[in-house]
Amino acid sequence: MILSKSINKYDPCLCGNKAFYQKCCKKYHDGEIPESAEALMRSRYSAYALNLVDYIVSTTHPQHPDYLGDRQQWKEYIHRFGIQTKFDRLEVLEFVDGDKEATVSFTVHLRQGLEDASFTEKSLFEKIDGRWFYKSGELVGAK
Ligand SMILES: [Zn+2]
Repeated sequence: MILSKSINKYDPCLCGNKAFYQKCCKKYHDGEIPESAEALMRSRYSAYALNLVDYIVSTTHPQHPDYLGDRQQWKEYIHRFGIQTKFDRLEVLEFVDGDKEATVSFTVHLRQGLEDASFTEKSLFEKIDGRWFYKSGELVGAK
């Protein structure tokens, strides 16, 4: 089953902020640089939900193993994940800001078919030339 991944400008943003998509993650998806690691994290979540594969790739740290591996295979994986997953909700638990590094802990509420595919992750972000990138993530607890 192929789910529709479209969103209107005046729909509430998928990232959980109480703002229209237009006023929230869309500007980042259109090329504006997120001002914080948390904004980047949220915009990556909504990009996964909308299957904006190139946005995921371009906001991943150049030293991340996925970035260094087979690019085409990685893109196909992201695309398949997006199609097979229902993105119910993002919950940001903690944001620890820094000059060069920042962490965001969050729970994503996901479903794949009848399975609950939710997980909690602490992500590490690094700033390079004034831009945040997703560097790595570790799962928190087990779900
Ligand atoms: Zn958003």
